[in-house]
Amino acid sequence: MFTDYVKIVVKSGNGGDGAVSFRREKYVAAGGPDGGDGGKGGDVYFTVDPDSNTLVDFRYKKKFKAEDGKNGEGGHRYGRGGDDLYIKVPLGTLIKDAETGKILADLCKPGQTELIFPGGRGGKGNSHFATSTRQAPHFSQGGEKGIEREIILELKLLADVGLIGFPNVGKSTFLSTVTSATPKIADYHFTTLEPNLGVVKSEYGNSFVIADIPGIIEGASQGTGLGLQFLRHIERTRLLLHVIDVSGIEGRNPVDDFNVINNELKSYSEKLSSRTQIIVASKADLIQDETLYNELVKLANDKNMKIFKISAVTGEGVKELLDYVSNILKTLPKEELIDIEEVKKVYTLEEKEEFNITKEDGVFIVNGPGIERIMRRVNLDDNESMHYFHKCLDKLGVNQALKEAGVQEGDTVRLIDWELEWYD
Ligand code: GDP
Ligand code: MG
Repeated sequence: MFTDYVKIVVKSGNGGDGAVSFRREKYVAAGGPDGGDGGKGGDVYFTVDPDSNTLVDFRYKKKFKAEDGKNGEGGHRYGRGGDDLYIKVPLGTLIKDAETGKILADLCKPGQTELIFPGGRGGKGNSHFATSTRQAPHFSQGGEKGIEREIILELKLLADVGLIGFPNVGKSTFLSTVTSATPKIADYHFTTLEPNLGVVKSEYGNSFVIADIPGIIEGASQGTGLGLQFLRHIERTRLLLHVIDVSGIEGRNPVDDFNVINNELKSYSEKLSSRTQIIVASKADLIQDETLYNELVKLANDKNMKIFKISAVTGEGVKELLDYVSNILKTLPKEELIDIEEVKKVYTLEEKEEFNITKEDGVFIVNGPGIERIMRRVNLDDNESMHYFHKCLDKLGVNQALKEAGVQEGDTVRLIDWELEWYD
């Protein structure tokens, strides 16, 4: 089965903690602070893998994590930075935040690599906090946590031309005669499960990709059967070939078929229904009576659409069609069909410096990544540490927020798992 939609969990590396350390020298009782900084956590990148065209690998491995930065050490030794993680995906993969649905990146160019989650910054060692009045800081800064999110990978085939139409009208047969693709060809009204891609090399040297997109059936836009899944694939084509059986041998009415499919397209996406569409009247070799075909020609003329009559079996009309397609593609835009404003590439680190305040049984509870970061490396028995800690809370806006939440002198405030009494 063709895999085109998976959810995975991705995490960038935590920054290493800054060290608390003092120089030890012979004959010197207590030397100056020499705690080194923590290393930066590894970044998470997504990169296009030219050899892959499915997301099948992600069905088994669901968790991806960049390496954490190492903690700093005494003697001003820096912690080593964590290794970055590169996750390979096929060309045409869209990366979304699973919770918000926001697009994080659109990997639609060969060789493209995008930073998605930066690693956490390393914390500063205690040597940074020495001042003339504070010569022995017994605290350092904690490393920043990496970003962990559930994300969606969605593969959209990048074909120039999409074949649409009811099952059994001859789409797969057409694709197999004009390209080297070998789609399943069936004489029954089931469709193949996988969209097939084929490359047409025109005699003028340019080539284009055709996708046989099965499964557009009535109700597809409402998610009936596999329809919706396949509609997604044609979103990115530049041109649609609407294949309609005009032979009459299956009892189909070409004009009705045209309308049903176009209504499906329209209810799925206005944008898609306004894409350039060419009508391909198929199975010409089987036509006994031209009435149905002529009705379709009239509809095409009314709508100012191009129509080609072809037979994939005898080859009638196929070359004319391909020549026309190859020429018109040169005039159709190749740029992205995704709204670019929708794309938000990288999470900013600021986004995480948050906290929230809740109240339970009269106790004010402060939580959040910003608090954790400050709390992690504070020495609570040390006055200077406490002083520094309070300054950090102030800078983060916690003190102000607590006042706004109505905290009073003597109230209990809980920070992560540490309780203190509030005083102004
Ligand atoms: P799809 O469901 O649209 O992909 O249709 P297929 O390509 O699987 O074709 C359905 C049936 O129609 C198969 O039995 C084909 O052999 C037959 N068929 C397709 N194109 C032609 C054609 O141009 N002429 C004739 N006589 N039969 C065709
Ligand atoms: Mg088919």
